[in-house]
Amino acid sequence: MPHPKKKTTRGTGGQRRSHDHLTTVNTSSCPKCNEPKLAHKACPSCGFYKENKVINTEKATERILRKSSAKTTAVEEKPVKEEEKKEAVTEEKAAK
Ligand SMILES: [Zn+2]
Repeated sequence: MPHPKKKTTRGTGGQRRSHDHLTTVNTSSCPKCNEPKLAHKACPSCGFYKENKVINTEKATERILRKSSAKTTAVEEKPVKEEEKKEAVTEEKAAK
């Protein structure tokens, strides 16, 4: 069986793990609704990409609600959760 010859010190392990960090995702603001969105991607909140509506956001939210309701069977709680998400996004925006 292969076996390490010497103990790996905290410093050596730390040097190895120095690149194991998460990087921040760069977001730009949507020109339509001013919500943060990824570059070269359609805006998830309004569904627009370069002045064209490419995502039917109403249908997408319906689909999400249907998927989540299948798991929990509590449909009434879902709109509240969406509002919480929007609030969280605005708080992030305010922090920046
Ligand atoms: Zn938008």
